[in-house]
Amino acid sequence: MPAKIIDGVKVAAGIRVECKARVKALAADHGVTPGLAVIVVGNDPASRVYIRNKMRACADVGIRSFQHEFPVDVDQNIVLDLIARLNLDTDVHGILVQLPLPAHFNIRQILAEISADKDVDGFHLYNVGGLVIGDTVFPPCTPYGVVKLLEHEGISVEGKNVVVVGASNIVGKPMALMLMEREATVCICHAKTRDLAQFTILADILVVAAGQPNLIRPEMVRTGAVVIDVGINRLPDGKLVGDVDFEGVKTKASYITPVPGGVGPMTVTMLLVNTILSAERRALGHTRFPERTAGAA
Ligand code: NAD
Repeated sequence: MPAKIIDGVKVAAGIRVECKARVKALAADHGVTPGLAVIVVGNDPASRVYIRNKMRACADVGIRSFQHEFPVDVDQNIVLDLIARLNLDTDVHGILVQLPLPAHFNIRQILAEISADKDVDGFHLYNVGGLVIGDTVFPPCTPYGVVKLLEHEGISVEGKNVVVVGASNIVGKPMALMLMEREATVCICHAKTRDLAQFTILADILVVAAGQPNLIRPEMVRTGAVVIDVGINRLPDGKLVGDVDFEGVKTKASYITPVPGGVGPMTVTMLLVNTILSAERRALGHTRFPERTAGAA
């Protein structure tokens, strides 16, 4: 039987309805409108598309967004100063720096400057550390979206063999941590893994985030496995595909996510969820860190 295709657009739409209700409640109970500041450096066309989608999604649920654009050769200190100001700005509940940044930027320094209380991408070391011990404030949006998709489909991960292909800081590693926290048996593969298929074939749940079209072929997938394709790749003919041979693998899997329309819409939606959570925490006085003065060490 062919796999059930998990409709990320539909699941995301349901969560966005809840987002709208939470935004309304914040306005009614606290007079607060959640705000997201987005920092973009340079003119990368893919980043532009992502930013446009994120800002449109914010507007759709009633979150205010503030875009800050810089030329590709901007001095990193100018961006650090802006982040310091945004950390203190009470209209801003989330700060997002669109990655990748130009080569002259020190990404770790930039991410460390963002207040952990406004780190809605979940990349600050505090939140990464929280993820390790199962107590993060803001889970990173893409793996968070995958977890929500699995929950929505009623797919339990407890005790399952999960194989994560890709070990980046923004997808693969946090994905593995979040699934381990939910008591899956997790194996992480990456570009240096020898004989990838010997690992993927064991997966009850296979999450692929490598950025390699057609990396996962049907013979690498166990019959009945759940296959989550995080990859987004643009082929020379302009077509968007994931990392999985969708047509081939869907004949073997029990569930599969399409690209586009699977994980992608969930990533943007979890950014909205994190931004609203940040505004709710502030409204209730639940922030963790005292505010720093702009420019203070
Ligand atoms: P990355 O380049 O930072 O990391 C890729 C990871 O995959 C690395 O750990 C690398 O070792 C591994 N890898 C590469 N080739 C491999 C191979 N042949 N076999 C096994 N492992 C291999 O990429 P990233 O930022 O983690 O993104 C991964 C993919 O997910 C990209 O296609 C990206 O566009 C996509 N992505 C999608 C979303 C979404 O919302 N759907 C969000 C973020 C990233």
